[in-house]
Amino acid sequence: MENDFSYVGENLERIRENVREACAKAGRSEDSVRIMAVTKTVAPEIVNCAIEQGIDLLGENRVQEFLSKKDSYLKSAEVHMIGTLQTNKVKYIINDVSMIQSVDSEKLLGEISRLAVKNGRTMDILCEVNIGGEDSKSGIAPGEVRGLLEKAAHTEGVRLRGLMTIPPPSDSDIFLGRMKELYDSFAEEFHLDVLSMGMTHDYAAAVRMGSTLVRVGTGMFGARDYSQKR
Ligand SMILES: *Cc1c(COP(=O)(O)O)cnc(C)c1O
Repeated sequence: MENDFSYVGENLERIRENVREACAKAGRSEDSVRIMAVTKTVAPEIVNCAIEQGIDLLGENRVQEFLSKKDSYLKSAEVHMIGTLQTNKVKYIINDVSMIQSVDSEKLLGEISRLAVKNGRTMDILCEVNIGGEDSKSGIAPGEVRGLLEKAAHTEGVRLRGLMTIPPPSDSDIFLGRMKELYDSFAEEFHLDVLSMGMTHDYAAAVRMGSTLVRVGTGMFGARDYSQKR
């Protein structure tokens, strides 16, 4: 059947159920976790199906792809940048996203601040942590987090909200636990309220470990087709 995207609603129902269950196991209220739909490679009309089913948060990885799709999205969802962001591209998204989750350097922080102030707004940010110390992943080392948080807390135009991570796929539980410990060690001092961790393969575990925001792509939209250039 043409345009039958009902699988998106079914997937979302299952994800919600799993999040509810994980919250119950951890003794948390289910509204303490936000579910983000990660949209990379997914056509806007399919993303809009998720929004129609109640998704109010989209995660974008690539600036170029986001710019080509943003006007087609239904307006009821906010957008967070979650992908590695080059400093020279902040200007393209500064007024179209409500949070940048992938802040991993003082240089990037500085540019977000400059453009936020120039545009008369405040940008929510998360610092991205490379909790597994993998060469292939972006984010700062756990030992560098305090320095970046202190800097961010005193930077004009940005509101520091928390931490984000992509743990190594193997031993995910160990690193989710470490990430929660790291988050807890800074949460009070820096007034953090967002811990963004958990993807399709580990969001239930991440919720049990204390994640407040899970970022789900494949589990919501199916396997990605990278051959479709957008
Ligand atoms: C792609 C991506 C996700 C979602 O990954 P899935 O495994 O498809 O759920 C989450 N976070 C980031 C930063 C991503 O790039």
